[in-house]
Amino acid sequence: MKQYLTLAEIQKDLSEGSLTCVKLVDHYLSKIASAAHLNAFVEVYADEARQTAAAVDQKIADGTAGRLAGLVLGLKDVLSHKDHHLQAGSRVLQSYSAPYTATAVQRLIDADAIIIGRQNCDEFAMGSSNENSSFGPVLNAADNSRVAGGSSGGSAVAVQAGLCHASLGSDTGGSVRQPAAFCGVVGMKPSYGRVSRYGLIAYASSFDCIGPITKSVADAALILEIMAGPDDYDSTVSQKEVPSYSSSPKWTEKAKIGYIAETIDNESISSDIRQRTLDVLNRLQAEGHEVTPVKMPLLDFLLPTYYILTTAEASSNLSRFDGVRYGFRSSESKDLESLYKKTRTQAFGEEVRRRILLGTFVLSANYYDAYYTKAQRVRRLVREETNRFFEQFDFLISPVTPTTAFKIGEKTEDPIQMYLADIFTVQANVVGNPAISVPVGTDENGMPVGIQIMAPYFGEDKMLAFADYIFNTNKSGVMEFNLNQ
Ligand code: GLN
Repeated sequence: MKQYLTLAEIQKDLSEGSLTCVKLVDHYLSKIASAAHLNAFVEVYADEARQTAAAVDQKIADGTAGRLAGLVLGLKDVLSHKDHHLQAGSRVLQSYSAPYTATAVQRLIDADAIIIGRQNCDEFAMGSSNENSSFGPVLNAADNSRVAGGSSGGSAVAVQAGLCHASLGSDTGGSVRQPAAFCGVVGMKPSYGRVSRYGLIAYASSFDCIGPITKSVADAALILEIMAGPDDYDSTVSQKEVPSYSSSPKWTEKAKIGYIAETIDNESISSDIRQRTLDVLNRLQAEGHEVTPVKMPLLDFLLPTYYILTTAEASSNLSRFDGVRYGFRSSESKDLESLYKKTRTQAFGEEVRRRILLGTFVLSANYYDAYYTKAQRVRRLVREETNRFFEQFDFLISPVTPTTAFKIGEKTEDPIQMYLADIFTVQANVVGNPAISVPVGTDENGMPVGIQIMAPYFGEDKMLAFADYIFNTNKSGVMEFNLNQ
């Protein structure tokens, strides 16, 4: 089967009759079977996907197919899909089925996307390596001894290894962009409020965003365009009109780019990441763009702010998993209180328990002002500082991660080291701005390196056009890996 970088290429072959959706689905199903060791999918909907494919082929023949005809899509295990299992990588939701479909997913289905399966992720999207999943870790297809990144690890590896054309993930602090960077694919977090969160299992509601993982910027733009926009079921979605991201003109202007010098001149950043980032900045400068180093004094406060606020929100969001309403229930309990305690102790993994405890602590009466209120204030300051930055610049460019994909098990004993993997990605979630990770090459071991472009709030149109401009001169960064290693 041909390697397709974009849906447009697939649709061209579909319309010329050299390809059918059924053939495409069969191809992905056989790739999924041969890549089972990667552990990217936790469930595959083989028969259903074949049936949908046949129906879409008929629509193509009738001339009634939707804009996503031919898109074979995987869903991170946090997105509701009616009558399909949904577990957020957790034992606590064992045997739970979604009673309705997430708005974002429904809009893609309505445009004739074919859902092929449910993808592995860190439990409740908490993690940076996919090692916190009750289904076990996902292996990076570029080197099976290394992590996929997280929390949307299965979704990124599925695109990396060609097991589906695109995936839908969620990004609360980097969970779409970081695994995309570790796997050499494109990952985008839209502005907070651009895409409905209805049907997304909540981790930290004021940070959570649904975003696509794709092989090209063009497909990220198209998927966003179809998912985005007002929804009666989520009052935090903006009423702002959705631009036609997929038909935005090519980037031709000279951009004003800022980068934070500290994000490059920092000992904890690997030399390959530094070099690839500098290569991109130097190239942009040589092409006539203005590239300026800036200072962001609040950078050091980003991770603490993120972890105080997200654990606080998580402790509240996850209180509903009590053994009464959903999935797993401990069989050892004697009364209601022990039912709650035993269920939650037995069914939540270590990282989720750590975050619930941390969140409960920062919200407790004696510490609320010292931690939660203070972190809210810092969030506001970071937002103001970021807004000031975007008064002067079009884009903020940074590495996505301080290192490329690390070895499985390398950071599991040290949560702080693991949290540092998110140092560059959390800012976009703390402030709500859109950001995208684009592959720009590899390190000395052949592991993918990404670059992050952040744009002003609701500046997705320009961000995507500029990302496409960077991407198109770096296509070599996108790879399909040999699965037999
Ligand atoms: N890795 C980050 C965390 O563990 C981000 C997670 C996410 O974006 N869902 O919180």
